Amino acid sequence: MIDLRSDTVTAPTPAMRRAMAEAEVGDDVYGEDPEVTRLQERVADLFGFEAGLFTPTGSMANVLAVTLLVEPGQEVLCEARAHILRAELGAHGAYGGITSRTWSDERGQVDVDVVRAMYAPDMGPFFVRTACLSVENTHNFAGGTVVPLAALQELRGFADEVGSAVHVDGARIWNAHVATGTPLRDYGAVADAMAVCFSKGLGAPIGSMVLGSAELITEARVRRKRMGGGMRQVGVLAAAASYALDHHLERMADDHAHARLLAEACGVDPDGVDTNIVVVEVPDAPAVVEAARAEGVLVGAVGPTRVRMLTHLDASRSDVDQAAKVLSGVLSR
Ligand SMILES: *Cc1c(COP(=O)(O)O)cnc(C)c1O
Repeated sequence: MIDLRSDTVTAPTPAMRRAMAEAEVGDDVYGEDPEVTRLQERVADLFGFEAGLFTPTGSMANVLAVTLLVEPGQEVLCEARAHILRAELGAHGAYGGITSRTWSDERGQVDVDVVRAMYAPDMGPFFVRTACLSVENTHNFAGGTVVPLAALQELRGFADEVGSAVHVDGARIWNAHVATGTPLRDYGAVADAMAVCFSKGLGAPIGSMVLGSAELITEARVRRKRMGGGMRQVGVLAAAASYALDHHLERMADDHAHARLLAEACGVDPDGVDTNIVVVEVPDAPAVVEAARAEGVLVGAVGPTRVRMLTHLDASRSDVDQAAKVLSGVLSR
C-alpha cells in the first residue's frame, strides 16, 4: 500500500532508531534529560524564542499556547478551518474556557482588515474581549497553503497596536520555511507563542514543542504536568526529533515536488500547491477513496466532495509516480 492519507504515517528510519537507542536520558520532570533540554534550547534558538517545551502532541502544544495567551471567557480569532478549532476536540473550550470567532478564507490566509473589523477590545461587562489572533502556517485543511511573512508581519503590527497576542500553529512551519526560504526566526518573530511538530514532515514518530518567552514556558511546564503530560526518560523521543532536524528538513523540497506531480495527475493546478498537501474536488469522495484503495493507494476524504493526499518521507518518487497513475485512472472514470 502507498499511504498518502497523512504525513504522520512515516516510520522512524533505521538511522533514527539508532539515534533513539543511543540517546542520553534522565528524568525530564526533574528537568534532567539532556537530550530533551538540548532539543528545547535548539528549537527555541532556531525560531528566536527564549524557551521551548517538548510535548507529546501538537494539540497539547497548541492548547498550552492558546490557554496561556487567552483567559477563560476571552476569545481567540482564527480561520474557520483552523486545526485548533476543528481537530482538537474542543480542548481550548473544555480546558481553557476559551471562546472563538472565525473568518473564512479558501486558502487559509489572513487579511488584517478583516481581523481589524472583527477585533473586540475590552468592553468591560458587555462583550467578549479578543485576547489572541491565531494563524495556521501552513494551513492544513486549506491544502498546505503558506501564509506569507508579509501578512504575518502586518498582523503582528495590528496586534501590537491593539495589545493582542499572536499564536501561530506551526505544525508544518518547516514546510513553509523550505518552500519559501523564509528564515525560521522571521516566522518566530511575529508570534507570542508557537507550536511546532516533529511528527509530520520531519518524520519523527512523536513529539511537538510549544515556544515562547521564558516566563510563558515556565507556566506551560506546570500546566503540561497538570494535564498529565509530564514525561520521564523522554530523551529517546527528543533524539528522534533532533535526528529529524539534522537529516529530514531540507529533503521536504522533494515532498513538495512530489505533491505538484500528484496535483497534475489529478487535474489540480500545481501552482496552487504550496507544499506537501493536495486537495482534489470530486463528485463522490468516499467512492474515490475506495477505488484508489482497491488499487493500492490510500488517500483521505475530507468532506463528501474533497479528497486529500499528503507526500512524505516514506513516499518515494516511484511510489508517487505509481500513485499518480492510479489516481488519474480513478478520477477519469
Ligand atoms: C497535525 C497538526 C497539529 C497537531 O496534531 P497532533 O496530532 O495533536 O500532533 C496541529 N496543527 C495542525 C495544523 C496540524 O496539522
